[in-house]
Amino acid sequence: MKSVAAIDVGHGKPLVVDEIEIPDPRPDQVIVKLYSSGVCHSQLHQMHNSALERPMTLGHEGTGVVTHVGSDVTHVKAGDMAIVTWVPRTARQGRWAPEPSGVTYREEEVSGSVYTWGQDVLTTGEYVVKVDDDVPKDVSSIVGCAILTGSGAVLHTAGVKPGDSVAIWGVGGVGIAAVQMASILEAYPIIAVDLDDAKLEFAKSMGATHTVNAATEDPIARVIELSNGGVDYSFDAIGFKITTEQILPVTRSGGSG
Ligand SMILES: [Zn+2]
Repeated sequence: MKSVAAIDVGHGKPLVVDEIEIPDPRPDQVIVKLYSSGVCHSQLHQMHNSALERPMTLGHEGTGVVTHVGSDVTHVKAGDMAIVTWVPRTARQGRWAPEPSGVTYREEEVSGSVYTWGQDVLTTGEYVVKVDDDVPKDVSSIVGCAILTGSGAVLHTAGVKPGDSVAIWGVGGVGIAAVQMASILEAYPIIAVDLDDAKLEFAKSMGATHTVNAATEDPIARVIELSNGGVDYSFDAIGFKITTEQILPVTRSGGSG
């Protein structure tokens, strides 16, 4: 079938929105007609990475309705509402690199096994998760990456419990999801650190109990003060050298950085 997607046709070149050819699904694959897609910073990293093969489709979080399933797929069927993610449903050791989707652009195979910057996505069923029919068709698109990355780090990786103190560096999509999960788990305090007052205000509305603008105050001193000597858990949703350097001294011995 023909569909339309945003395509990175060459490093440094503008994206083009053009027709792609989607083959019939392989036995393990699913086609989802998308209502919406998230836009993740990872796509910017991909676009800046000259080593990746082009043409390349982009995006790894979205919401849509399943239209076709391969013969081995049993967990979703045509008509199901589903999210698309980059995290496989089946737990595996180490990294897992599924085959390219098989989508072609001007008769060239498109690199990558999942994309959501398009109207229809062909991908492995491992990346397609059924959701309730009445989920919002727009905002649910970021569950597939931002929400599970941020909230999963707090809930599963750190295992935050009520009363644990947490600090979150960077309150964009991933950081806000971490703030929300910390709030659901009744952590206290929940300290949001960012350079942008508007983002910090939004973080407050999502459950941050305190905010620190690292552009105008020393985040190390302030977080230590607010947490009476350091937090139990810190989460870095930025990943710069400077954030690592700030996080280590504010995280208590025995906590996770
Ligand atoms: Zn992402």
